[in-house]
Order: sequence, then C-alpha cells, then structure tokens
Amino acid sequence: MSTSQNYLCLKNGTVINADSEQQTDVLIRGRKIVQVEPNLTPPSHARVVDCTGKLIFPGMIDPHTHMGIPIKNGWSADDFESGTRAALKAGVTTILDFTILEPGQSLSESIVVRRKLAEKSHTSVGFHCNITRFEKSLLDEIPELIKQGIMSFKVFTTYEEAGMYLTYKQIKKVARVIAKHGGLLMVHAEDNDIIKAATAKYAGRNLIEPRYHALARPPEAELVAIQKLGEIHRQTGCPIYIVHLNTVSGLNAAKAAGLLVETCPQYLFFNDAVYDQPDGRMYVISPPLRKSEDQKALWAGLLNGQINTIGTDHCPFRLSDKPDGLSYEQIPNGM
Ligand SMILES: [Zn+2]
Repeated sequence: MSTSQNYLCLKNGTVINADSEQQTDVLIRGRKIVQVEPNLTPPSHARVVDCTGKLIFPGMIDPHTHMGIPIKNGWSADDFESGTRAALKAGVTTILDFTILEPGQSLSESIVVRRKLAEKSHTSVGFHCNITRFEKSLLDEIPELIKQGIMSFKVFTTYEEAGMYLTYKQIKKVARVIAKHGGLLMVHAEDNDIIKAATAKYAGRNLIEPRYHALARPPEAELVAIQKLGEIHRQTGCPIYIVHLNTVSGLNAAKAAGLLVETCPQYLFFNDAVYDQPDGRMYVISPPLRKSEDQKALWAGLLNGQINTIGTDHCPFRLSDKPDGLSYEQIPNGM
C-alpha cells in the first residue's frame, strides 16, 4: 500500500487553532489532513487513536532560535541537528533562526552560510536577517532579499562591545528601507547608554555573582529603547517587532506605540530570584530575568492579546560552558 493510502484517525481530541478550539476528529491520509469533523467514520483500514482528554495542535512555529552560536571556547549546546530534533519532539515543526553577519560579508552571503548549516535540520527552517553593521551596501540589499522571501531584519540597540550596535539614527534609516519594501524590523531593545552607565559600576571587578548581570542591564534600558523605537515607528511607518520583551513598563510602552511584541518562556516562568541560587549562572541571559511583577504582567499580556508571539530565544549552554567562578561578564548569555 502506498503511503498516500495510509489513514490515521485522531478520535475525540480537542483541536486548538489560532482562533478556536473544538472537540472533534481528525482524519489524516499520508502526510495530509483530509477531514476535520466530529464523529467521522474512518476507512476500515485506518489506524485509530483515541485522543479523549488530549489537545491537538497544528505544528508550532518558534520564531526565535539561535542554533550553533560560536562562543569563546566552542559552540552553544545545540546545533541545527540536535536543536530541531528536540523542537520536533515538542511539536515545533518550523523554527526561525538568525543569520550571523561576519566582517566583510554581505547580507546575502550571511544567509547562504546559515542555510548551509541548517541543512541537517529536522524541521522547516526560515531566517531573520541580522543587520549588525550600518553600511549603505547592506541597506541596498534589503529590497532584493524581501523579494526573495527574507521578510524580517533584526537590529540591536546595544552590544556595542560585540560590534553589533546600531544607533537610533541608523535604525531609523534601516526602518525606512524596510517599510518601503514591505518587510518587518525586529529589534533587540535595550538602550546602550543605560547599559553602559550601569555596567560601569560593576565591570572589571571580577564579580562572580550572577545577579550583577541583571544589575548591569536594568529594566529602564528596555523602556527607553522601546520609547525611541515607538518614535521611529511613528516617523517611518515601519512595523517593529520587539524580540524577547521582558518588563511591564516595556510592554505598556510598546503597546501604546503600536509595536509588535514577543516574549519568551524564560521570562514567563522565572524571575531574578534564581540568580541567588547555587546554579544562578545557568540563568544568565540577555536581557536578564526580571521581577515577579514583570512576570505577572507578561502572563496577563499573553491572555489579553497584548503579546503577539512566544519565541524561545533558544540558545542553551552546558554546565561546563558556564563554569563556577567565572566573573559575571564572562558567563555566556543564553539558555
Ligand atoms: Zn535572541
């Protein structure tokens, strides 16, 4: 029998869609859903699975992952092969990862490199294109990339030390090009000046307690960046998507300004109390975990529709990548 004749019938589960949920049966032939209807009668040779009390979701899209990120002494724990294998186990069938723009590279070249690495993936993979340098030649590539289906471009309002920072003035110029050609601008929103001022108090003192990471990246950094980005959105009409939003003040400012908002499971499930745990260094991520008030506001925002997407910002590290005794500045960021 050819696979197209293989029927699978999911009986009596609750089917969750973006806009509805319904107790129903689902009939699948081969790789295709052919019927969604309560009490349907499957073909006699169909495999029937009783899904009473179970939830049935469409394949999920994780809009924010970082597979195989280079770090000081190697790579982050998951590459495209292992990371997408894990994703699939949890029902994620598509991931959207990010390009890494190396010195001297064009945007198109950076996409080719990441696509090659992603060939061993088990899920569908799409890419957001990182713009981590401000050069006219890079901006000139944007219209053609959008035509090819690369719709989203990410910039950073910080990480000056890593050479990834764009000023608000530069971001506005990028936004104008993206707006004109119908793309989406994604922004890592932490104000560079605020982080620099806060960091100056703690940097270079070999402080090993992970909570200094959170103190060096205060919540006001998100608020100020979002206010500036709201202004850029108003002036350019460019749709702006705030990645990994994590504060109540940032959420309110983003919604008041008409920006799109993503948050991540780590900001929903944890707060900065974990930085005082013995394994607190494993929770060092950027932006850092916040207060329980922020956590509550994010859950509320999720329920009332203020938060548009959940992305994992998947970027895990091994215990050995974050050994005990490292200064907070040396701990790789991500989980
Ligand atoms: Zn990220």
